Amino acid sequence: MVPHDQLSYLDYNATTPVLPEVAEAVTAELHRYGNPSSVHAVGRRARAAVEEARDAVAAIVNASAQHVVFTSGGTEANALALRGLAKAGNCSVVLASAVEHPSVLAHVAEEHRIPVDSNGVIDLQALERALQAHASPVLISLMLANNETGAVQPVAQAAELARKYGARIHCDAVQAVGKIAVDIRSLGVDSLSLSAHKFGGIKGIGALILRGGVDLAADMLGGGQERRRRAGTENVPGIIGFGAAARAVPKLLTDAVRVAGLRDHLESVIKAQAKIFAQGIERLGNTSCISLAGVSSETQVMRLDLAGVAVSAGSACSSGKIAPSHVLLAMGVDPAEAKSAIRVSLGWGTTEKDIARFLEAWRPLASNAAA
Ligand code: PLP
Repeated sequence: MVPHDQLSYLDYNATTPVLPEVAEAVTAELHRYGNPSSVHAVGRRARAAVEEARDAVAAIVNASAQHVVFTSGGTEANALALRGLAKAGNCSVVLASAVEHPSVLAHVAEEHRIPVDSNGVIDLQALERALQAHASPVLISLMLANNETGAVQPVAQAAELARKYGARIHCDAVQAVGKIAVDIRSLGVDSLSLSAHKFGGIKGIGALILRGGVDLAADMLGGGQERRRRAGTENVPGIIGFGAAARAVPKLLTDAVRVAGLRDHLESVIKAQAKIFAQGIERLGNTSCISLAGVSSETQVMRLDLAGVAVSAGSACSSGKIAPSHVLLAMGVDPAEAKSAIRVSLGWGTTEKDIARFLEAWRPLASNAAA
């Protein structure tokens, strides 16, 4: 393996490095103990730490702390929203864009997936037609930013449609936090999913954030934790780390401008030889989804890895399987072209040197493809 100091990690959308302040807070918590549900002093200390973290997490999306439900991550938060909001609202139909993360699409029937345009942006007219077609209560799920292309969806407009037709709306904001501003009130959605490991927290902790007044049927039963919305003893170290990552969000948002500059530089160098998806639209500044005709994603990922550059083929959750990305296919990309796509995703640790290392390793791949 390439020594760590010669490694360029460009896979922040899969998971980010743990921020130093998070590692410190989590490590300190591992030396403490106490169940937040215990009434003695040791338990009360743990409860106070959890509640402090809850305040910090609520603040990054302009929500109230009482509406934060801690979960084991983004996947569970999406499942809780899609099952729990649907159950509480008697929604028999879940509509979602065709480019959602698999943890959302697992709950959505094929015929209820709303098409997207060639940039991966939801067709709002098709969404409105689908809302008109269903007399029974409907739940919509629309992500804020796509994990593969970075495309930002018109969530506030979809929420207006939801209100017009009396539907509920959930938003998977897992990839957006720390990269663009996220505000549950201005988005106008009923719930938001977050995942700590996408912005400096540790893996295995996330949250479902509810708008005030929204009911949710619990999925995990057998305990009164999280105001009876998610049973089970809280992951206290994970939650404390989540709070520390949340406090770092303003700093990450400031740095996002520098990161976008690096990404734009990378794209300006490769654009003559590669196709860049969703380039002309509002997109996360850290993400680039690139296809190099004639060179499979796997070959590119392996060759870059040998050169010490970590990127991913499509979404990390589906890596290891050769099938082309469902996101690119939904955008109308030819399957052969989709099989040549990689995702490069930058973050706060990315420097000019990392981009230079990527370009140095990528150029021979592009020259071979052209030869
Ligand atoms: N939603 C999106 C958009 C994601 O990118 C991911 C992870 O890649 C998830 C949900 C799942 O989050 P977690 O890894 O915390 O389960």
